[in-house]
Amino acid sequence: MKKRGRPAKYIGVAKEIRTLYNSKKGLKQIDFDNFKNWYESQNGCCSYCGLTSADSAKLFHKYPDTTRGGRRGKRLELDRKNPSITNYGEDINNLALACYWCNNAKTNYFSYEEFKQIGESIGKLQKVRLL
Ligand SMILES: [Zn+2]
Repeated sequence: MKKRGRPAKYIGVAKEIRTLYNSKKGLKQIDFDNFKNWYESQNGCCSYCGLTSADSAKLFHKYPDTTRGGRRGKRLELDRKNPSITNYGEDINNLALACYWCNNAKTNYFSYEEFKQIGESIGKLQKVRLL
């Protein structure tokens, strides 16, 4: 008899990676192991300001009113470097790990390269807010 439970590919994988993988329908086009490898290559930091997921959670609790009614900010999110590619699963190289504050500020207006510059300043300010 087959054991019930989570699929073998999820065993031992951090909840955060699974949550991100399942957050966008198109991501299923990317093999889970490839996504996991991509995630691990991001060093667990926002691509723009360098905020870690743990620091994002701290800010989420410290500034709950800034997080869209508490719906975002608890963990890092997925951003598309080029937002005109609407399907998250179309190109793994188009994905960027982003904190809520950077993702929200970048919108579809700033390019990835432009927002990297803005993110440096946001990162300095976030360090102060974390004190
Ligand atoms: Zn950020």
